[in-house]
Amino acid sequence: MNTCVIALPDEAATLALGAHLARACDSAAVIYLYGDLGAGKTTFSRGFLQASGHQGNVKSPTYTLVEPYQQLARPVYHFDLYRLADPEELEFMGIRDYFAGDAICLVEWPQQGAGVLPEPDLSLTLSYVNQAREAELVAHSPLGERLILQVLNHKDSA
Ligand code: ADP
Ligand code: MG
Repeated sequence: MNTCVIALPDEAATLALGAHLARACDSAAVIYLYGDLGAGKTTFSRGFLQASGHQGNVKSPTYTLVEPYQQLARPVYHFDLYRLADPEELEFMGIRDYFAGDAICLVEWPQQGAGVLPEPDLSLTLSYVNQAREAELVAHSPLGERLILQVLNHKDSA
């Protein structure tokens, strides 16, 4: 299964999608989050982080570009590249170290880091459907395919 589309009728559904993926993520992973401002990329990330054991706030690291969550069983790095002026800035911040090892990287606005960011295992595109949202998931690796299957299984049993 390489792609799927999931309806997200409300904020809770976006949080739940993040939580399901977090529980399915049993190794290092790179997840790209596409979508306009307000589409739910940070909401998804909050669901993901809270299901990974993070308690407390999650906001887009718009000015710092990355927020580390290293106290978790598996480290998660949450990127927001909206304000990245030049993909080369990522080299200066030592991007390779974040993507090495067993961490999970969630990347909002990955198109801003094109050419420097590693390829994703999974990409999510969140879009507006009236007041609600929908997510298109595309797998780019065997891990990404496994993640999609887990999400679909969960949806069917919910
Ligand atoms: P982004 O990071 O993509 O800019 P945010 O997650 O910060 O977006 O904001 C998304 C906004 O949309 C929040 O106000 C959130 O409550 C709301 N939202 C998230 N998911 C949904 C959904 N499935 N349906 C309706 N509203 C949603
Ligand atoms: Mg955001």
